[in-house]
Amino acid sequence: MKVTAIRILKDNYVWALIDEEKKTALIIDPGEAQPVIDFLQQHHLHLLAILVTHHHWDHTNGIEAIKRQFPVPVYGPANENITGLTHPLSETESITIEGFPASIAILDIPGHTSGHIAYYLQGKLFCGDTLFAAGCGRLFEGTATEMKDSLQKIMSLPDETEIYCAHEYTVNNLRFAQLVEKDNAAITERIKQVNELRHQNKPSLPSTLKEEKETNPFLRCELATVKSSVEKHAGEKFDNSVEVFKALRKWKDSF
Ligand SMILES: [Zn+2]
Repeated sequence: MKVTAIRILKDNYVWALIDEEKKTALIIDPGEAQPVIDFLQQHHLHLLAILVTHHHWDHTNGIEAIKRQFPVPVYGPANENITGLTHPLSETESITIEGFPASIAILDIPGHTSGHIAYYLQGKLFCGDTLFAAGCGRLFEGTATEMKDSLQKIMSLPDETEIYCAHEYTVNNLRFAQLVEKDNAAITERIKQVNELRHQNKPSLPSTLKEEKETNPFLRCELATVKSSVEKHAGEKFDNSVEVFKALRKWKDSF
């Protein structure tokens, strides 16, 4: 299976999961239709299904127009209102799509929205706007505790898991990460790597979970260095890592 990014809108990626032998594809989070339709036609791909991680318009607006061209099933979170959804999902289920070679596990990862889900298959995680490269999604509907639990769930996957998030936010996220952890050499190194990719106009994604654990401050709230940095910025002391996480998210919101 090959994974390709289709660029849409300002900085969103629609991920296409492609079986090159059979010329079939799944797409994830089509916030716009035409670039996706063009991509499928250019590569002579037969679309099998649309997968959606959460209800935000920049992940769903293309569904109806794509369905008019390709009448396929649409999978997405059971607890969110998404036009065109045919197969509501939650964590207890895994899905098998006719014609697609791998079964796909579902993870409930609320926080950014209350019903947000992720798709996990063959060591790849498609996590929408929950875990970003060097960052995490804003808390629009969920609580800090929910988001932190969701990130904890993702962290329990193998270190080599490839992380496919839905936005190209990595440069900005790493600038913030470096502000939080000035002496983290892994962040400095990652900034170099990501700058190189972006200068070549390549996506900075996927990352690996291992890289995220080493450089993403939102996965590092238990560390004394991150805690003291967040406390210094907030001007108060925190009792636990959820409070640190909450204050870190607030800091990033105003960055
Ligand atoms: Zn979103």
